[in-house]
Amino acid sequence: MRLLIMGPPGAGKGTQAEIITKKLGIPHISTGDMFRKAIKDGTAMGKKAKAYIDAGQLVPDDVTVGIVKERLSEADCAEGFLLDGFPRTVPQAEALDDILNELGVKLDKVISLEVPQEIILHRLTGRRICKGCGSSYHISNNPPKVAGKCDKCGGELMQRTDDTEETVASRLRVYEQQTAPLINFYESHHIICHIKGDQPIEQVLQRIGNCLGRDLA
Ligand code: ADP
Ligand code: AMP
Repeated sequence: MRLLIMGPPGAGKGTQAEIITKKLGIPHISTGDMFRKAIKDGTAMGKKAKAYIDAGQLVPDDVTVGIVKERLSEADCAEGFLLDGFPRTVPQAEALDDILNELGVKLDKVISLEVPQEIILHRLTGRRICKGCGSSYHISNNPPKVAGKCDKCGGELMQRTDDTEETVASRLRVYEQQTAPLINFYESHHIICHIKGDQPIEQVLQRIGNCLGRDLA
């Protein structure tokens, strides 16, 4: 399946994407994870992206579209993929249409996770991610079995540098201005599923499964 998951920062995209991709055996393509890896590896692209990310702004479209185009051309994407956090602007969505046309494939579904703003701040300030594998936890909603350690790889958990209250406010403004209009863009493609994201993780997953016609449990 060729899928896209969208929603505001903290909607639970990464959490759901990790479970869905494992279950369906398709790659999880998160532009945020790709940028964080580039920053960790100290690449030129990582250095450029860091300034935007730390300011709660979007990395320019040409950089972002370039890395997604390269990634979608890799062999493991031939039978399907799940895009998480891309596209985030109308020009990115148009570029994605062009990339998919060139590859001769189409998106099967767009999952739109909908979560009220007042819940998002609590989710993001309590989020912890694994330094090793990037898995996402929450100090109270979704804690690891052992405090401060990743259940999957034993790595150390840390807070993202862009999960501070000030940066979150900027990210939410950017979402409303630049990314929310994509809901209409995909509405016109008739492939969008609206999912209530302010439910326990398992319930959100079940609703996504219903929309995809797959048992994800
Ligand atoms: P996104 O990828 O959309 O930014 P995440 O998947 O990283 O969001 O989730 C943001 C935070 O909210 C994380 O701390 C995560 O553990 C927590 N979370 C995710 N889904 C839920 C949910 N359904 N209910 C409560 N907390 C959740
Ligand atoms: P995420 O992990 O999806 O929350 O992304 C973290 C940050 O990476 C965002 O706040 C942006 O600065 C940057 N980023 C991720 N995906 C994109 C994208 N599609 N376009 C532009 N910037 C992005």
